Amino acid sequence: MIDLRRLLPTEMDALIGEMGLPRYRADQVLRAAWKDLVEDIRGVTTLPGALRSRFGDDGYGFDTVREVTRQVSADGTTTKALLQMPGGTLIETVLMQYESADEGRMPRSTVCVSTQAGCAMGCVFCATGQMGFERNLRAEEIVAQVVHVQRLLRERGQHVTNVVFMGMGEPLANYTETVRALRLLTDARAFGLAQRSITVSTVGLVSAIGRLAREGLQVGLAISLHTADDELRQQLVPTASPHSAGDLIEAARDYFDVTGRRVTFEYALLAGVNDGEVQARKLASRLSGKPVHVNLIPVNPTAGGFRRPAREDVIAFERVLQDAGITTTVRVEKGAEMAAACGQLRTDTVTISPGSAAPVRGPRQSALGPGPSRGQ
Ligand code: SF4
Repeated sequence: MIDLRRLLPTEMDALIGEMGLPRYRADQVLRAAWKDLVEDIRGVTTLPGALRSRFGDDGYGFDTVREVTRQVSADGTTTKALLQMPGGTLIETVLMQYESADEGRMPRSTVCVSTQAGCAMGCVFCATGQMGFERNLRAEEIVAQVVHVQRLLRERGQHVTNVVFMGMGEPLANYTETVRALRLLTDARAFGLAQRSITVSTVGLVSAIGRLAREGLQVGLAISLHTADDELRQQLVPTASPHSAGDLIEAARDYFDVTGRRVTFEYALLAGVNDGEVQARKLASRLSGKPVHVNLIPVNPTAGGFRRPAREDVIAFERVLQDAGITTTVRVEKGAEMAAACGQLRTDTVTISPGSAAPVRGPRQSALGPGPSRGQ
C-alpha cells in the first residue's frame, strides 16, 4: 500500500488529476491526512464512499504506527514512545515540552524524530550507534512520528511546535527521505510547520550539508562536532574520516552563506576526554568570529565508560567560549532518567512477543536504565 502521507501536495494534485477527479478532492484528502489525522481512508467522510473504496482498490491508504510502550518522566515534560512501523521495525520518538515564559500560553512541544532504525555511524558514546544499522526509514515513517505525537497532544488541546531530527540515525545518510519528510512537514497544504521550527542534526556529512543548503529550505542545522581536535574526533566518531573539524566549520559557513541560518555546533562534554581548558581554547580559536552557536551537552549517564563532567567544569568550558565572543548554551537535559535523552535511544533490547502488545526487555538495558549516550 502507498501511504497517502508520503505524497507531497503537488503529487496529490497529480494523482487526483490522473484519477479524473476535481482538484478540491486533493484538498479534502490532504486535510484528512494532515489536519484531521485520520487513521483509515474509510474514515474520510468528506469523500464519497465509492471514492474511498477506489483509493483502497488502487493501493492507497494511511499506514498507522503502533505505540508499543510509552514512558513519561516524573515531571511530565518528556514522553518517550517506542513505535512499531507497519513492517515491524521498532524506533523511538521523544516529545519534550518546555514551559512558555508567558503564563497561560501553550508549552513549546518539540518532537525528536528518528530517521533510521539503528545507525551506521558508530559514535562511541551513543546507544544508537552501538546497536548498528538496521534500515533507513521512509519519509512517511518519519512524519508518522510527528503525526503520532500530534494526535497525543491534540487530546490535551496542544500541538507540535518544533521538530528536531535528532533521534535514532544520521538524517543526512538517509538524505532523500529526510528532505521529503522536511517538505511534508513544512508544506502549508501538508503538516504546515514553519521551516525555522525544524532542526536537522548531523554528525557532519559535508557534501550532504552543501546539498541541504541548496534545497531552498530554511531549516536549522546542528553539526555534532564534539572536539576541535581531529585525532580525538576520529576516536569519538570513527566514521568521521576524511572530514576534519576545519571541513565542518567550512561547511557551516557555507550553510550560513546560502541560507542565512547560523549553524549550531553540538559538543557532547565527556569528563576527562574533551572537557578540559586546552580543548575549550582550541575550540574557541577555531570558532571565534564565525557565525555559529555552540551547544554544550554534558553527556548523559552512560554504560560506555564516559562520565558527565562536574558542573564547574561545564561552566569553565562555557566561559572560555563566551570570552571568545561565541554564543554558547548548555543544553537543558530532559528524559535522562528514562533513557530518552541524547545518546540513549535504542530498541535492540526490546522484543515483541508474537500476538502481544507487551514488550519484553532484553538483558542489556532495563527500560529505565542508562545506556551509552547518543551525541547529536
Ligand atoms: S550520535 Fe547520531 S550519528 Fe552518531 S551513532 Fe548516534 S545516532 Fe548515529
